[in-house]
Order: sequence, then structure tokens, then C-alpha cells
Amino acid sequence: MNSNNDGSQNMSRRLALTGTALALVVAADAAITRAGAQTKISQAVAKYQDQPKGQQSCAVCANFQPPNACKFVQGTISPNGWCQLFAAKT
Ligand code: SF4
Repeated sequence: MNSNNDGSQNMSRRLALTGTALALVVAADAAITRAGAQTKISQAVAKYQDQPKGQQSCAVCANFQPPNACKFVQGTISPNGWCQLFAAKT
């Protein structure tokens, strides 16, 4: 009888610890996501411009996120824009 109670208490403790661990993982993941969002740099620092530079434009850049965003540069990004972080799609 006592061993059954101990077993269920151990199980409850294990479940509580698992729940705590999961909550920590979720919180850490959210923090990492926020940190990732904060790594974008300003358009001024990236030397972003609203027009292409020769054949280079956001539309053909690997960092472009249609319809109007960039992985690394803040704000609204035009497919016809360009910045010094340009990386051609492969
Ligand atoms: S050229 Fe610059 S702003 Fe445009 S998508 Fe590429 S990295 Fe982003």
C-alpha cells in the first residue's frame, strides 16, 4: 500500500518536473525568438535604398521575405530596394 502511494507520489513529482522543464524550454524558445527579431539592423546602418543597385535588388536577394520584409533589415522593404547586405539567391 505504501509503496503504491510512494509510486504515485514519485509519478506526480516526475510529471511536475517534466511540466516545469517544458515551461522553461518554451520560455527559452520565446526569448530566443525575441532575440532573433532584435538582431535586425536599421535601414540607415544597412545603407538601404528604395531602388536597385545595378542588377542587384531585394527581389533577387536570399534575405528577402516577400512581400516586403528582410531577414536582417528593419521596416518595410521594397522588392526593388537594395542594401549592402545583399546576397544573391543561389
Ligand atoms: S538587399 Fe538588403 S534589404 Fe534587400 S533583402 Fe537583401 S539584405 Fe534585405
